[in-house]
Amino acid sequence: MNLDEALGLISELPDFPEPGVVFRDLTPVFGDPKAFATVIDALAEAVGDVDQLAAVEARGFVLAAAVAYAKGVGVTLVRKAGKLPSVGGSVDYELEYGTATLELPADAIRPGERVAIVDDILATGGTVAATCSLLAEAGAEVRSVAVVLELASLGGRDLLGDVPLHVLKSV
Ligand code: IMP
Repeated sequence: MNLDEALGLISELPDFPEPGVVFRDLTPVFGDPKAFATVIDALAEAVGDVDQLAAVEARGFVLAAAVAYAKGVGVTLVRKAGKLPSVGGSVDYELEYGTATLELPADAIRPGERVAIVDDILATGGTVAATCSLLAEAGAEVRSVAVVLELASLGGRDLLGDVPLHVLKSV
């Protein structure tokens, strides 16, 4: 399956989670082995040469774990507040639909490590920008961000500064 076909499986759900918002759903991509493999291979190529990956729960975990396996690197799982027994850093940020706190596991990052962030969707950019600052504070060199889908009209890429952004599809 080629990448366009795989990304064509992303569905659109109007008026979720609130009226006027179109929710993009990657569930059909996760559920189709050929589409999933195609997307993982494309993300693995996009992130480039790195020492490890980082991802935010929940869909980011699924993608980053598979990309990490494909690349032969590890993955740091950035959690929503209150889930980690040992916290190495914390950041508050704004979501498209509210506010939240992200936490980095203690000792997840070695100073100077080259890290790429993998996520499903770049919307306002708040999640990825917050993850970038968490990783940078922990001493990582954030090399790139790779997402399946960019919602370009929300301007999220402007929050990423100099960090290269790779998107498989922009709408
Ligand atoms: P941002 O912080 O506004 O860029 O939002 C990105 C996060 O919200 C990602 O981790 C996504 O999982 C989630 N998100 C935002 N919009 C959508 C959507 O339309 N469908 C699925 N997830 C979304």
